[in-house]
Amino acid sequence: MEVIHEVATVRQYIRVARQRGCRIGCVPTMGALHPGHLSLVEECRKHVDEVVVTIFVNPTQFGPNEDFQKYPRPLEKDLALCRENGVAYVFAPGKDSLYPAGFDTWVEVDQLTSMLEGEHRPGHFRGVTTIVCKLLNIVQPDVACFGAKDYQQQAVIRRMVLDLDIPTEILTCPTIREPDGLALSSRNVYLSLEEREIALSLSRALNHVQSAVASGQRDWSQLETEMATQLSSAGVDLQYAVIRHPETLQSVDESPSHVVALIAGYVGKTRLIDNMRIPVA
Ligand code: AMP
Repeated sequence: MEVIHEVATVRQYIRVARQRGCRIGCVPTMGALHPGHLSLVEECRKHVDEVVVTIFVNPTQFGPNEDFQKYPRPLEKDLALCRENGVAYVFAPGKDSLYPAGFDTWVEVDQLTSMLEGEHRPGHFRGVTTIVCKLLNIVQPDVACFGAKDYQQQAVIRRMVLDLDIPTEILTCPTIREPDGLALSSRNVYLSLEEREIALSLSRALNHVQSAVASGQRDWSQLETEMATQLSSAGVDLQYAVIRHPETLQSVDESPSHVVALIAGYVGKTRLIDNMRIPVA
């Protein structure tokens, strides 16, 4: 496995791999890898010959009061996990490689970022789309894998790739959870034992919606109220608990084949998100 820090070097390795006839896959991450990330690597390996994992804690997607400084950066452990999981290249650039002095170009998706995460984290998606566009330009992968855990993010990236004619196939991989339902997240390390118990209410609320829909409930605003009540009484400082159309993320009007329930809120000082795509049979 090659560990690469410079843009020109990764381009060179990819050029050589292409000359050998390899299909290339990319898994963009901010590191602090866990089995959720590794499931993306595993899926990616099924579609390509060589996988590039990028590890970069992207400063431009963090708000001024967010956790950029304290975000975990266990690079050596991450590299060992990549090695064990068949990754061919880790691209771990420094900030100045991707944002050199004078950097002045941003990629923005408009409508899809005006709500939910975009509303609560102003500027977040501008940072995400800019860095993902740059990484896709640098690696030029055939396939890139993203997690359904960040549901709105994968929708925004799909929109960007379509709108900007980026020749990469985007795969969205299922959310990996702890046995008790907690969605894996690099931010879970911030949770105390007591907070972790409160955090379980997110997946419980989503399971509640799933069961209700399976039993025929179609009153979406009633279900949103039920989620909000459950989450708030469990101790979550809720930002949103909504049911939306799975592609547009707008409110559900006619009867779609699926809906997506999305939650964001604080447990103590830690902001958590979770979601579930639910069939409406
Ligand atoms: P991050 O390092 O948090 O930026 O995440 C990198 C990628 O891993 C994103 O595409 C995430 O959606 C994905 N990811 C994070 N957590 C999980 C999870 N629990 N299951 C599946 N994918 C995940």
